[in-house]
Formats: sequence, structure tokens, C-alpha cells
Amino acid sequence: MFERERTEVAEACRRLADEGLVIGTAGNVSATAGDEAIAVSPTGAELAELIPEQVSVVDLEGTLVEGDLEPTSELGLHLGIYERYDAGAVIHTHAPMATALSCVLEGELPCVHYGMLVLGGAVRVAPYETFGTPELAAAVLDALEGKSAALMANHGAIAHAPDMAAAVDRALLLEWACTVYWRAAAIGEPKTLDEAQRQAVVTAAMERGYGSTKPAQADSEEGG
Ligand SMILES: [Zn+2]
Repeated sequence: MFERERTEVAEACRRLADEGLVIGTAGNVSATAGDEAIAVSPTGAELAELIPEQVSVVDLEGTLVEGDLEPTSELGLHLGIYERYDAGAVIHTHAPMATALSCVLEGELPCVHYGMLVLGGAVRVAPYETFGTPELAAAVLDALEGKSAALMANHGAIAHAPDMAAAVDRALLLEWACTVYWRAAAIGEPKTLDEAQRQAVVTAAMERGYGSTKPAQADSEEGG
């Protein structure tokens, strides 16, 4: 019944494993399946080899409605994000760079690159809580306020988006931003974009339709 959504979750898990963001069974992925169900990766499964039949479908209270496997131990966190934010897909990883920075950074990953504005600019670090607990879910939900991604102290990273393709892009973007910050911090004090610089990026992106392809300008043959 939820074949498309279960396939989407399984494909995203395999892609994230290919990209090195999830290793073994660590990490979890979910997507909305209509208005009243969530397709979510199971606990304990090898994510690099996940198949649609292993993806669980639960209702908004977390009760299993399709599939045979117990959902991820972070199900409460996923459900909380769908309840509080306008998300279509959620990805939690223990990606290497994000997790390393989550062990060191106090408060936030600063906005060092305009690409991070897709994530909401600076990315907060949610305080450490034990995995799978309501306390962790509450801390992460607060860290996501006004953002589409967060780091989780001494644990990993999380991103959400209106659809799975965008959520995968954001998970990859966050890992890239962590890598940039790591390398910059290794050789000096990374400069951050101030409020005026961030606002100018938003204005320029809206004016130019940044991030989407468009036909070349007709006057380009004049050499302009
Ligand atoms: Zn985790």
C-alpha cells in the first residue's frame, strides 16, 4: 500500500551509505506517506542494503500499520519533527564530520558559507541526551526552530525538508559545511557571514532564481 514511500526511504538509506554518511546500522530515515502515516527505516538493519520490504510504516502515534520490523529507536524524534514542523522527510545520521564537530562545538556551527542558508544559516548543536529518549527528541526539536538541520552533541546530525530528495541534499550539505568548517578551523579562525551579508544572499538568490537551471540569455551572442 505504501510501496512508493517505502522504496523512497530504502533508496535514501542506500544513497546515504554510498556517500559515507551512514555506516552499518547507525542512522535513520523517514518520509510522510499521505497525511496520516510515516514510512521509517527499521532498527538494527544494515542501511547500505535496505530494501523496501524492510521499511516500516507507522501512524502519527507510532503504531505499526505496515511492515514486519520494529521502527528505528529514534521514532519519537521523527514523529516530533512532523508534528512541529512542515516536513516531508527526515534524515538522522552519525556522519563523520558532523559527529566530530558535535563533540567540540559549543552552541552552533557558525554560518561560514552562504550555501548554509538553505539550512537556516548557523546550525545549532542540541545538548547531549541519551539516544531514543523523549529528552533527546525535545532538545533536537528546539534546536531545529527556524532551521532545517541541527547537530546533536556527541551523537550526530539531523536534517528535514519538504521531500526526500531535498532532505538528502541537506544532509549532504550539512556534512560538506562541517568539512569546510573543520578545514578552515585547522588553519585559522573561520570568518562568519554577518546579518547584512546573509540578507544580501537571500535578495540575490531571489532575483536570480539561484539553484535552478534556466535558458541562456538571448543577448549572449553579442558577447555581453
Ligand atoms: Zn543516532
